[in-house]
Amino acid sequence: MNLSTDIKYLPGVGPARAKLLGEEMGIHTFGDLFDYFPFKHIDRTRIYYIHELSGDMPFVQLKGKILSYEIEGVGRKQRLVAHFTDGHGLVDLVWFNGAKWVRDTYKEEKEYIVFGKPTYFSGSGRFNITHPEIDDANSLKLSTMGMQPYYSVPVKAAKRGLNSRTIEKLTNSLFKQCPETIPETLPQWLVERYMLMSRDSAIRAMHYPQNADALNRATYRLKLEELFYIQLNILKFSSDRQKEVHGIPCPRVGSMFLDFYHHHLPFTLTGAQQRVIKEMHADMQSGRQMNRLLQGDVGSGKTLVALLVMLLAVDNGLQACIMAPTEILAEQHLETFRQFLGDMPLRVELLTGIVKGKRRKALLEDLAAGEVNILVGTHAVIEDNVEFRNLGLVVIDEQHRFGVAQRARLWRKNTVPPHVLVMTATPIPRTLAMTLYGDLDVSVINELPPGRKPITTVHYYDNRHVSLYESIRQQISLGRQAYIVYPLIQESEKLDMKNLEEGYEIVCQVFPDYKISKVHGKMKPADKDAEMQRFANGETQILVATTVIEVGVNVPNASVMVIENAERFGLAQLHQLRGRVGRGADQSYCILVTKYELSAETKKRIQIMTETNDGFEIAEADLKFRGPGDLEGTQQSGTAFELRVANLARDGQVVQQARNMAREIIDADPDQSKPEYALLWQRLSQLGKDQQDWSSIS
Ligand code: ADP
Ligand code: MG
Repeated sequence: MNLSTDIKYLPGVGPARAKLLGEEMGIHTFGDLFDYFPFKHIDRTRIYYIHELSGDMPFVQLKGKILSYEIEGVGRKQRLVAHFTDGHGLVDLVWFNGAKWVRDTYKEEKEYIVFGKPTYFSGSGRFNITHPEIDDANSLKLSTMGMQPYYSVPVKAAKRGLNSRTIEKLTNSLFKQCPETIPETLPQWLVERYMLMSRDSAIRAMHYPQNADALNRATYRLKLEELFYIQLNILKFSSDRQKEVHGIPCPRVGSMFLDFYHHHLPFTLTGAQQRVIKEMHADMQSGRQMNRLLQGDVGSGKTLVALLVMLLAVDNGLQACIMAPTEILAEQHLETFRQFLGDMPLRVELLTGIVKGKRRKALLEDLAAGEVNILVGTHAVIEDNVEFRNLGLVVIDEQHRFGVAQRARLWRKNTVPPHVLVMTATPIPRTLAMTLYGDLDVSVINELPPGRKPITTVHYYDNRHVSLYESIRQQISLGRQAYIVYPLIQESEKLDMKNLEEGYEIVCQVFPDYKISKVHGKMKPADKDAEMQRFANGETQILVATTVIEVGVNVPNASVMVIENAERFGLAQLHQLRGRVGRGADQSYCILVTKYELSAETKKRIQIMTETNDGFEIAEADLKFRGPGDLEGTQQSGTAFELRVANLARDGQVVQQARNMAREIIDADPDQSKPEYALLWQRLSQLGKDQQDWSSIS
């Protein structure tokens, strides 16, 4: 079968429609149409009798005749009503427009299948079906009698005459046109071992399943295949890397590390911090490249770990760099490092988008000459024109979107690829981690620095702002500082949404005696930083902000975190925001403010926040709550691949299964040389060619 046949050769398509399908829906070939799966099916396997109808039924189909037509109502409420019977009762079919067409098309006394949602009207004592779908009962075609597929059609294509029904006709004609078997893309033994549907049956069942069970099995097969190849790619990548890539040896624990450890460290490391540093050091002296993920809850002290590991690199004559997700954070890291390091003979510099012109040029020269030991920055540090003399370690801090492919790019920064450390707070769903970070070894900091008092989290409704402000005043009078966070910068269409500007005005009025900072994402970076700095220095007592402060900002003196419209934040975000306080020895508070009416789910979210400070627990709850849509953003920019059938938020178990399968294959054929696995490796490299990002890591 030739899946690459141009779609214009499919009966019912032609050049004009082929263009539309191609441009608006990405359907260029027969194969593309096979893969254009419906987003739902409606069970049309059953025909109901009218006397069986009840008020809460979804879509049903009836078989019968139109007895007569009638125009009811006047003016804009005028409608065409057809009295319809199946010999067991009467329903009214209702149209609010197109009366002439309806009457011309559907004749009295002919038998029809009527499909739609019945609604009971006490006025008439009968069920109504508004704008039903009607098919001739004698020339039943397509899937009218089975599970009917519903295809999504983009607005532009819909405006030009395509709808789900047209696509249905096309897929139907496609299956007639191509009775041959669609080629298998998994080895037969694998299909059998895991009792999977064949690819051919699965694709056919995705469009026209015999029943709901067949649809489930088809979906499972395709999800598993999709996730399997992703996992196979990741594991092959890391296994090849282990075989081929030598790491820069870092055997020495030298004067930088030791001097810092013994004379500059302001506190004792926690046991967990010591352990993870040892794990990393073991990697770095193994002669292999370190590729490690450091997980640790907010406030667990990852920054310090990063600094110590960077010092190890420096001790071995190498440069190190750390990448933060925002300029503010990069600057904070710089500050932190410089403070910690004090007068140690070490050059630490900042490279972000705001370092420009002569300064940038000079910095780049010094970097290339090896005069800068540690570079702190944003994405700017991996731009092509940034050259290091001898880059030995790259630390990636809190960048959830920095996936496998992006990391692979770092390798070009040195002839022998640098060691890579990725740091993140725990609340990333495991399935996402398995996909984004599936090639990494994992270290966990499961302990907070001593003396931390658990943050007290409370929930206030909107109407308790007076006592809320009182609490803030109390804390500030004790010398503390407070954050107030709003979800948006500008008033959205929802009128109840407080916005930052308005909030700022109110806070200024309520606290005329305090100095108040305001920070949001649309400010110029320099202004934003200056304002953050004022708060960090204690010049201002309250920081009113959007979520720009979400990740990593460190002001230990701040003890109150107020989150306005907390109902609009996800769990992971709430937890990150809360982590901005509780960083000193004082009792800290997080106050979640919400409107009065909350959905059951939001209530649950808020409740979890008030009950636990544990990032692991929150991560788990988060995965359950997150809608698929929520994750998709991360998915698309995060993984290098677009998922067609699987969904990382919902299909955790399938991800795990796919990973186990891939693991087995890699272990069984590590050199990719055994004939029974050949199809897999071919398919993998084909997928790599089809998807650019993919190929960049394979
Ligand atoms: P995160 O893991 O969220 O990045 P940070 O590295 O910002 O956390 O650390 C949070 C705070 O804890 C910082 O103020 C840091 O100086 C402090 N800290 C880190 N390690 C220790 C420790 N072992 N003992 C006491 N305080 C620590
Ligand atoms: Mg951090």
